[in-house]
Amino acid sequence: WNFVKQIDPEIYEVLLKEWERQEYGLELIASENFASLAVIETMGSLLTNKYAEGYPGRRYYGGCEWVDVAERLARKRAKQLFNVKYANVQPHSGSQANMGAYFAVSNPGDTLMGMSLSHGGHLTHGAQVNFSGKLYKVVAYGVDPETEVINYDMVRDLALTHKPKVIVAGGSAYSRIIDFKKFREIADEVGAYLIVDMAHFAGLVAAGIYPNPVEYAHIVTSTTHKTLRGPRGGMILTNDSEIYKAINKSIFPGIQGGPLMHVIAAKAVCFKEALTDEFKEYQKQVVKNAKKLAQELEKRGLRIVSGGTDTHLMLVDLNPLNVTGKAAEIALGKCHITVNKNTIPNETRSPFVASGIRLGTPALTTRGMKEQEMEEIAELIVTVLKNVKDEDGNISEEIIEKVRKQVLDLCNRFPLYKDKIKL
Ligand code: PLP
Repeated sequence: WNFVKQIDPEIYEVLLKEWERQEYGLELIASENFASLAVIETMGSLLTNKYAEGYPGRRYYGGCEWVDVAERLARKRAKQLFNVKYANVQPHSGSQANMGAYFAVSNPGDTLMGMSLSHGGHLTHGAQVNFSGKLYKVVAYGVDPETEVINYDMVRDLALTHKPKVIVAGGSAYSRIIDFKKFREIADEVGAYLIVDMAHFAGLVAAGIYPNPVEYAHIVTSTTHKTLRGPRGGMILTNDSEIYKAINKSIFPGIQGGPLMHVIAAKAVCFKEALTDEFKEYQKQVVKNAKKLAQELEKRGLRIVSGGTDTHLMLVDLNPLNVTGKAAEIALGKCHITVNKNTIPNETRSPFVASGIRLGTPALTTRGMKEQEMEEIAELIVTVLKNVKDEDGNISEEIIEKVRKQVLDLCNRFPLYKDKIKL
């Protein structure tokens, strides 16, 4: 970081402090991970200088011969990883992947059916504040109030009533395996396109420990930076050549201009890493760790929504300890444990307060932590939650100091980047 240090000390300080925060804190945000230095190096490279509107071999700019190699490699590896015929690796983000996918098979004004935000869906699945809710007529399905898992009969009834053009499966806070076959049957019955947004569990799919949606969905979208552990970005997959053509058009020139070639090259690096046996082992450990963390939290009196998890994440109902999601997020944050508050099914509080937190294990597992550490972390989390004094997440200095010390000890036992980078 020598160049930044010289040119812009203020931003250098941001880099330094953020590295410290990542290195010496426990990261439990389910959508976050730590990319490899190979991925980060590629993202921070001079490929950012290149304009490359269009697709490999058909660009609107000269000088694209090397970035073409990068994009072709990214596409080839993505196809191999997910066993799919076509891949567009240009979406700048998961949201743009979803927008590109929707526009490929539907028009504004059509009906889109997705999981409601409050039950675990993503903003782009039809939330009113998002482009999806503004441009589409939205029908939202949720989880069964009793079981807290998707009730496919309810989904089917809604689909039969509203005849959506697009059905979206997948979410940001749903911890169970989704039955893509059932979703496809429902879509076929009502003549809808099925789009699976696998942003959260893409890494698990790549490792073969979560069903691969490409077998059932017309289109699969994803981010590349969550469980997949790549650069911040998106991608779209399909087995249908006509839909692929429509996706390519809807991404460029439809909703994006020049692709981020530094990020696309970093996606290629990420896919290469994800094709290794080591990555498969990593993903298995991610799920083992999530299951262990859920069990240990349950043992200590918390309730896990739907009774557990099949994936890398869980929703924790804090009501048994009489703490709000907001207070928990603040209190844990003070102790260098990063989580996010989250609404739970049958929520009684506003989303800004919420009754739950969402926890995920991808980042901790990247550091090499295993089941034993999950037990330690569950104990730390519950210690903090039991000592929350008020709605603002205040806790005593004594607890903060005690927990921070244990967090630091864990982080030092499982170093992140510190031995590999020169600051
Ligand atoms: N889809 C799902 C299921 C997500 O959880 C997210 C992000 O959290 C996105 C899409 C959007 O990704 P991005 O933040 O890159 O736009």
